[in-house]
Amino acid sequence: MPLPQPKRPIKTIAVIGGGTAGWMSAAAISKSFGRNIQVQLVESDEIGLIGVGEATVPHISAFNRLLNIDEAEFVRETQGTFKLGIQFKDWGKIGDSYIHGFGTIGRDLGLMPFHQYWLKARAAGKAKDIGLYSLNTVAAPLGKFMAPPRDAPAHSPLAEIAYAYHFDATLYARFLRKQAEAQGVTRTEGKVVAVTQNSESGFVESVTLESGAAIAADLFIDCTGFRALLIEDTLQAGFEDWTHWLPCDRALAVPCEKVEAPTPYTRSTARKAGWQWRIPLQHRTGNGHVYSSQFMSDSEAADVLLQSLDGRPLADPKAIRFTTGKRRKLWDKNVVAVGLAGGFIEPLESTAIFLIQSGISRLMSLFPHADFEPVLQETYNAQMQFEYERIRDFIILHYHATERSDSEFWNYVRTMPVPSSLKAYMDLFTADGQFFREGTELFGLTSWVQVMLGQGLSPRSYHPAVDWVKDDDMLSLIDHVEKVVASNVALMPRHEDFIARHCAARSV
Ligand SMILES: Cc1cc2nc3c(=O)[nH]c(=O)nc-3n(C[C@H](O)[C@H](O)[C@H](O)COP(=O)(O)OP(=O)(O)OC[C@H]3O[C@@H](n4cnc5c(N)ncnc54)[C@H](O)[C@@H]3O)c2cc1C
Repeated sequence: MPLPQPKRPIKTIAVIGGGTAGWMSAAAISKSFGRNIQVQLVESDEIGLIGVGEATVPHISAFNRLLNIDEAEFVRETQGTFKLGIQFKDWGKIGDSYIHGFGTIGRDLGLMPFHQYWLKARAAGKAKDIGLYSLNTVAAPLGKFMAPPRDAPAHSPLAEIAYAYHFDATLYARFLRKQAEAQGVTRTEGKVVAVTQNSESGFVESVTLESGAAIAADLFIDCTGFRALLIEDTLQAGFEDWTHWLPCDRALAVPCEKVEAPTPYTRSTARKAGWQWRIPLQHRTGNGHVYSSQFMSDSEAADVLLQSLDGRPLADPKAIRFTTGKRRKLWDKNVVAVGLAGGFIEPLESTAIFLIQSGISRLMSLFPHADFEPVLQETYNAQMQFEYERIRDFIILHYHATERSDSEFWNYVRTMPVPSSLKAYMDLFTADGQFFREGTELFGLTSWVQVMLGQGLSPRSYHPAVDWVKDDDMLSLIDHVEKVVASNVALMPRHEDFIARHCAARSV
């Protein structure tokens, strides 16, 4: 049997782009690979950042831990707040509201997840709204938040509070830049105007800046945002367009004055041809209207947004155009696209920063030698495809599972054919209330069940094993969970008090 032999290693990486994707990539790689690899980053002040992307999912904590980021410092420096979930208003039908909370629902009994018992009890009129059985969904609307206290008993719901963050995207990139530069990343300011490829292999050899300087590297990470300078302009990796399932293609973003204590959740309100976000930060509130230009004009979209802000707008709305979908290859030759250069799914569940994080960690796991074994790229692309598609399906679910029929937009999304993978999940749930997580997909049972119920999907039955538990035992479990959740939430401080005590930002 041949023994593994050393191969020529990659020695230099050029990250092109200094937005969230660029600085996350540079910070993570320099932290993990140390000085074994030289990382340089190029960004153009003239082009600037997209400047949105302010809500996250809990996985970002793992990224912060990798970088040894101190949570209090991070929240303080980015004007951050905490996020227990997302409140969805007017999605299933006008007047509806539910919260997709992180964490767990209730407590499992035997092999069955809690919601299975809840389905039976609810049908008998003996269970309340599913949101009352999860700490996050009870605490969020009450404005309560705390990070799990170190001394919480192991089985207390307080020991398992799952949360993410809201933060100012520009401050986040700045924060990561400081960290990355301290780890040895070198930054060059300048606009890339030309890309040189190897005449035989097509591999990218260098990029040339407006100043005439050339930057060569073994591996290029394309973080140039929607421009996709290397992966598309140069390598023409191709784009898979998902607009027929997710027709929103524009956004208007505007910050407004903060008029109340920041809520520990993001709000998403469905509108006539899309939806509006509200992201509370310490110094301001971020807002945006995501809409479909097929169904609404830009001026109407601006009116909808500006008429429903909490406070005075602090800038003119920024217009952003996008196409939902992803590159056919996120890794092609010696270029890996991370962030908006790789693809975009609208921010309804705050998944883009997660996809950056997962793209980087997957790249580090499948890191090539300088010979770029094709199997590494193929594996990377297949796994990223799966990850994007499962998130895509979850987002489509919010639009498709609705009773709304008050506009052409809602009639379209409600009646459109959906991907067979999503249909299979919906069929499974509407049969016996079941969910089966595939592989490493981002959203698990809690998320899918909350959103499917919240959007009005109603299972015809429940798992047969539920009937093997005595009704009295089942009802006492349900009752107990409600009481435990309520009593633990009562112990939690208010979100603003927690921030004031641990991570208040400088006032601006
Ligand atoms: C409307 C909207 C709302 C969003 N909300 C969320 C959210 O709530 N949560 C979430 O997780 N994500 C969200 N996202 C996604 C999030 O904003 C992005 O994933 C994130 O900001 C990463 O962007 P980026 O770094 O890929 O691109 P950008 O921020 O656009 O950065 C691109 C970089 O490339 C540089 N560059 C480009 N061309 C050149 C060139 N020729 N030469 C040199 N440099 C160049 C630019 O100067 C810049 O530094 C949202 C996106 C949109 C559009």
